[in-house]
Amino acid sequence: MWTKATIEDLLFGTPDELLFREADRVRQEVCGDEVHLRGILEFSNHCWKNCLYCGLRRDNRSLQRYRMLPEEIVALAAKAAGDGMRTIVLQSGEDPWYTKDRVTAIIRGIKKKAGCALTLSLGERRERELREWKEAGADRYLLKHETANPKLFGSLCPGTTLEKRLGCLRLLKSLGYQVGSGILAGLPGQKPEDFVDDLMLLAFLDVDMVGIGPFIPHPETPLGHDPVGDSRNVLRLIAVARIILREVHIPATTALGTVEREGREKGLRVGANVVMANLTPLRFRKRYAIYPSRICAQESAEWCPECLKQRITNLGRKVSRDYGHSLKGERHAA
Ligand code: SAH
Ligand code: SF4
Repeated sequence: MWTKATIEDLLFGTPDELLFREADRVRQEVCGDEVHLRGILEFSNHCWKNCLYCGLRRDNRSLQRYRMLPEEIVALAAKAAGDGMRTIVLQSGEDPWYTKDRVTAIIRGIKKKAGCALTLSLGERRERELREWKEAGADRYLLKHETANPKLFGSLCPGTTLEKRLGCLRLLKSLGYQVGSGILAGLPGQKPEDFVDDLMLLAFLDVDMVGIGPFIPHPETPLGHDPVGDSRNVLRLIAVARIILREVHIPATTALGTVEREGREKGLRVGANVVMANLTPLRFRKRYAIYPSRICAQESAEWCPECLKQRITNLGRKVSRDYGHSLKGERHAA
């Protein structure tokens, strides 16, 4: 078991080269050379929440909002799965238009048409919704804790608390979801010691997936003038997460690829084993503006997976044909 002191030592006292080499070694030992490609469909940019860092926040009136119809979501997900995508991630703002029954119908529709794993990333939702969606066939849920500093979390996420978010994560686990959480790194006011707490929290939560991305200021938010999160710090956090958490899936995030040239490749070399292919129809992609200048907003949805496959092969790694379920044993059937 890792102690606070050993995590501090890794995070603050180990030179890049040593840290990155060890993380890559652990990744190779635990995950092998396979990289999981997950197809993400960002089906709505409506959000009733008002997180200070996010371009989809309710108070951003300059954003043209969209919602995809359930039939279109099912058809696109089924098409991607038919083309070989083993995991489909459905993500949106917290949008109450997608009621319990609508989401259930979408999950059932996808599961009936396609043999893929299904991940939801719909924010904090009610227990009865999460329970029904699991029963309908959803396999996984992504909900980042963003920062383990309760004061900072509270000031950046009006309408919720860190306690509530952690309760939601525990609930998801008890319902049988494979659970992903993670860190938004470089938030204004975040301190280096907060990252130690972030990593300890992720270990304590016993998560199956860990997403770590840099904060990127969006001009239409209250944090629009704050500096962008440091990509080297993100790479170091990914590396330490791999070393201490071991059996977890770690994406090389699109946000990392946005702030740093070849950022996703760098992430894959220091512990990451997952990349996300954007399946959102081109007409909506730019409008899913969580942060500005997102990479892959120009390409067509068909092209995105192909480009990523090429990048994975160029690194000498293999695209997995597996569902990429939790690495923590057999508790999750396909
Ligand atoms: N509404 C859902 C899913 C969409 S937001 C939710 O909040 O969980 C998905 C992720 O985008 C968040 O977890 C957050 O970490 C990230 N994000 C939001 N604003 C960002 C920004 N300005 N820079 C980088 N990542 C951001
Ligand atoms: Fe909404 Fe998620 Fe953005 Fe918060 S981070 S404003 S919940 S989309």
